[in-house]
Amino acid sequence: MQLVKKVHIMEVGPRDGFQAEKTWIPTETKIAVINALSRTGVPEIQVTSFAHPKAIPQLADAEEVMSRIDIVDGVSYRAMTPNIRGLQRALAFKDRITTVSFMLSVTESHNRANGNRSIDETLQDFEEMTPIAQDAGFVVSGSMICSLGCPFEGEVPVQALERVADRYLALGITNMSLADTIGVANPALVYRVVAHMLDKYPQVTWNLHLHNTRDMALANTLAAMQAGMDRFDGGVSGLGGCPYAPGASGNIATEDMVNMLHEMGVETGIDLDKMIAIARMHKDFIDHPLDSSMLRAGKGSDLRPAPRQQQKIGEIGAPA
Ligand code: ZN
Repeated sequence: MQLVKKVHIMEVGPRDGFQAEKTWIPTETKIAVINALSRTGVPEIQVTSFAHPKAIPQLADAEEVMSRIDIVDGVSYRAMTPNIRGLQRALAFKDRITTVSFMLSVTESHNRANGNRSIDETLQDFEEMTPIAQDAGFVVSGSMICSLGCPFEGEVPVQALERVADRYLALGITNMSLADTIGVANPALVYRVVAHMLDKYPQVTWNLHLHNTRDMALANTLAAMQAGMDRFDGGVSGLGGCPYAPGASGNIATEDMVNMLHEMGVETGIDLDKMIAIARMHKDFIDHPLDSSMLRAGKGSDLRPAPRQQQKIGEIGAPA
């Protein structure tokens, strides 16, 4: 199988994972998780979102988290800035934040549900926001929420993605993120869409944001890699629910993705044992089961001691 040798993973758990949690996660805990993540070798962390605290109460401490985390060499830090007000709040952290993410759904109905605005209205906001962000020295990343499926409109025509990509490029935004926000994509769809967008927009730095809502995120990762994608988001411990699929699992667990990639000989730069230890930390403050196969079963490369030779098979539980 011909695959890229190295994959860039952005850890999004502290934003996309935490924001879905109803029970308040103490600021100290958030900072401890992010500081531990900064020491796993992961090259990029999405720290928080400067959303309105009424919209996302869990991230109301964005300023405190952003100002108190350790900035570690070799790691770049990113924040989501959903609107002009959010971007203004991020400006206070010019020295800490490398990239700001803009949020846009590629279907009208989802963009309205998410931000009560049409796609055009949101893009007009971005016209105002982009020069402010660029003058501050931020890299701007344009997201394409629901680009692999919408809860209201179903499958999304690739023309809808091109329309948004063209507008982003016109604004000088060359980092873009395709998102399977509600976890409805399948490997064939991912391959088709990713191959098309990579081919049509070679000047764009693409990344792929997958949710494991229907247990297809690892298969979708592989399909995207076969289409040439080499940048992915992951959420440690698999947090990140979906408001349209109650009880559904969340982001692809970073440790599960890293385990698969390493077993296939693809580098991530991440220390998997450290990542699993951070996933395990989540058991102390998350009040529901975690969707992580590493927490359930351990690494594929973990070896167990072989039974002692004098022991009969029957003694260790196999049928006699
Ligand atoms: Zn997400």
